[in-house]
Amino acid sequence: MRIAGFIKTSLLDWDGHVVSSLYLPGCNYRCPYCHNPDLVLRPDEQDEVQWDEVEEYLDRNKDFLDGVVVTGGEPTVHSDLRGLLSRIKDAGLKVKLDTNGSRPDALEDLLDAALIDYVAMDVKAPLNEKYALAAGEGADVEAVKRSIELIRASGVDHEFRVTVAPHILTAEDVEAIAAYLGGARKLAIQQFRPGMTLDPAMSAASPLPSSEILAMAEAAKRYVRQVVVRGDV
Ligand code: SF4
Repeated sequence: MRIAGFIKTSLLDWDGHVVSSLYLPGCNYRCPYCHNPDLVLRPDEQDEVQWDEVEEYLDRNKDFLDGVVVTGGEPTVHSDLRGLLSRIKDAGLKVKLDTNGSRPDALEDLLDAALIDYVAMDVKAPLNEKYALAAGEGADVEAVKRSIELIRASGVDHEFRVTVAPHILTAEDVEAIAAYLGGARKLAIQQFRPGMTLDPAMSAASPLPSSEILAMAEAAKRYVRQVVVRGDV
């Protein structure tokens, strides 16, 4: 298992938790607004962090760490992800998995093995032909739907996340996503961050005004139990 990035301590990656975060290279999506393009487009050129270094840090600091966030890229593209999560659990720490929900079989395997304590799944767009616009050609909407159902049925604590990409998602789209997720525990509505983006055309795009993001959150509250807003709003 190749680990491309290791943040030793973060208070931002799992609400209410002090965590270490591991970044795995590679992704099967091509979201134009992705702010980790190097990790996605050039996975083999990334630095490699040795597991021994991670393990030593986790062992030394497990008294104040609550868990480890495994993110990317898309972690489930790695066939040996199960082994990595097992090692974290063996170190006595909880696991949060960030995923785009594109590989339900891998997700189901990890959920069944009780290797995930919290899962955060991106929902890129309404579950229709618009998905390819937000996630890149080849995005399989049926796979995403299956991941949503697996997570909801799992009993594992979770959240769904929507990034409001300008020129891609509208307020109606965000409401349609919230309605599809009706009754879900938590939906995070995330503000788009310009700067380094996978599609250079997005890098100078202006985020939607805060008032519009907050109005989307208000509308989403009609469908899901908890709505949070993240980013520069
Ligand atoms: S934002 Fe999209 S392209 Fe970037 S890592 Fe996440 S799923 Fe992959």
